[in-house]
Order: sequence, then structure tokens, then C-alpha cells
Amino acid sequence: MLAYTYIEKGRFAFVDKPKPVLQDPRDAIVRVTLSSICTSDLHIRHGSVPRAVPGITVGHEMVGVIEELGSAVSSLEAGDRVVVNVETFCGECFFCRHGYVNNCTDPNGGWALGCRIDGGQTAYVRVPFADQGLTRIPPSVTDEQALFVGDVLATGFWAARISEITEEDTVLIIGAGPTGICTLLCVLLKRPRRILVCERSSDRIRFVREHYPQVSVVSPEECLDFVRENSEHGGADVVIEVAGTDETFQLAWQCARPNAVVTIVALYDHPQVLPLPEMYGKNLTFKTGGVDGCDCAEILRLIAEGKIDTTPLITHRFPLERIEEAYRLFESKAEGVMKVAIG
Ligand SMILES: [Zn+2]
Ligand SMILES: [Zn+2]
Repeated sequence: MLAYTYIEKGRFAFVDKPKPVLQDPRDAIVRVTLSSICTSDLHIRHGSVPRAVPGITVGHEMVGVIEELGSAVSSLEAGDRVVVNVETFCGECFFCRHGYVNNCTDPNGGWALGCRIDGGQTAYVRVPFADQGLTRIPPSVTDEQALFVGDVLATGFWAARISEITEEDTVLIIGAGPTGICTLLCVLLKRPRRILVCERSSDRIRFVREHYPQVSVVSPEECLDFVRENSEHGGADVVIEVAGTDETFQLAWQCARPNAVVTIVALYDHPQVLPLPEMYGKNLTFKTGGVDGCDCAEILRLIAEGKIDTTPLITHRFPLERIEEAYRLFESKAEGVMKVAIG
């Protein structure tokens, strides 16, 4: 089968590989029916993910159908349509038992698929710890509706969950890329008084205005003044930073009111500086990122109930053979691209 593969820093290419086989009784083999490209895939290609192993098939956002199951998998059956979780986790260690699955201490735990082991930009993928790593898709939910549940939507759901949002709150979301939009969808479920979105790209500002007219969008330059004018206590009650630049990191704490929660979901290219003397007395609570992707079943239920819809994010579709073109488009952010569906 043709597998889109991390060859070396700067280069992905198709490699012909054998269909994967079960290696452990807890494994499953999944036939990939739809996959996507994530910014983390670009980070691998740029060489900024040191643990990524050259030679592995890339891709960690996918849905598919179970072909084969190891003898120790108990919650699934061959033929089930499933979402694949970006995180591999054992379900048994201290961190897994507390819901911190991102910190699973199993040697295979954490982000393995499409990074340290073969991922899903191909026809078949082996998923370790299938009872944890696969979630059955309800019959009424399509592959496209479920495509982002295991990664980018899980991240948005987790960000909203840990941010302690109440119905009195003004919530500022910095960044309206795919993860920012997924975060917005999950914040909407918390019914805060007001949601403000900060974004620079005119395409993405247009996307928010078109699909979510109930939220206000503002540019980074106007953000601080706008948040102060549009909140009750001199700043946002909750700030969720999803953009990942030096500028947006500073905006996150500046736009927060005293005693606010600031959740940092973004991945930065280099260290960020908190000017603690300037912040003294502001008494902020910071929560920092790395999704715990353990809510997939609940997210799928919300999709089935019509409460979350990420399908507008799929702006372009490509067959697997044309994935290089899809990467070029996704990386360029041209043509208003948000996410691509491959399959
Ligand atoms: Zn990802
Ligand atoms: Zn674990």
C-alpha cells in the first residue's frame, strides 16, 4: 500500500509498504476511510518534532473501519466505524486513571501515531491499545462529521473543559485557525455571556463572521482595547490562546482581567517570557497545553445530537494520491483553506 512517509527533515514522500499486522493482543488494524492534515504534520516535516522517527507513515487525524482485532480488545468489533485518537494510552497507569492520558507512562504512550509509529495517511493503520485509542462512531454521524474528533476537536473540547467557564463570563479566544474554531464550538456549549475572537487573517475573520455571527471578531492590534470595552471587569474572565506567536502570548495575559484563567493551548516555536513584575497583583491562573484526548465518546454524542458541527472546516477534499497538493495548499493557507479531507 502507498504510505505518505517522513523521509528526512524537509521531505515527505509516498513509500510502498506492506499492510500492517497485529503486533500485540491489544492492537487493531483499521482501514482508513478519511484522514486529514494537521499543523503538527508540518512541524514533523520542518524537523521541529525531535522524537519523530524518519521512515514512519505520517498522519494522526483519521476515521476508518476496523478490519482486524487482537484477542485482548474487548469493547470493539471488526466492521465498527471508528475515530482514531491522536494519543496512545494504556488506560491503567496513574496518569491515565486520572484522565491525564497525554502523560501516559507506557513506553508507547502519548503522541505515537504518525510520529513514532506508522500513522494514517495511507490505506491501513495499526492502532495500539485499541480499547482506548478507538471510539465507535454513532450510525447517524458521517465520516466527515467525525474526522476531527480524535485530535483538533479533542483539543478544543479539552481547552473549553479546563478553562472553568461560567455563564457570566466574557471569553476571549486568540486564533481562529482550525483549533481555534474547534475551541470556539466547545466554548459555545458553555453558554458564556460573550465570546470574543482575535484573528489576523482576513480569510479567517470572514469565516468566523459567516459561520458564527453571534461572536465578535477583532484584529490583534485592536484586541486589548476591544476586550476592555466589551467586558465588565477590565478584561476577559477567561482567555484561551490558540495562536502560538510571541505577540499572542503577550495578548493573552494582557487581555485577562485580574484573577482570570488563561489557558495556553498553542504550541510555540521557542520559549515565551512572562513579565512577572508588570503582572504582579494580577493573580492569573495559567493552564498550559497538551490535549488529554479522553472525551471522544462524549464529543461524538454531542455531534450526533447536532450540538457540534465541524464540517464547515473541511474546505477542500483530495484523494490520497494527491496528498502532496493538499499539503501545499494547507501550508500556504491560500484559497481560504481551513482543513483538508483526504480519502
Ligand atoms: Zn494534530
Ligand atoms: Zn497510561
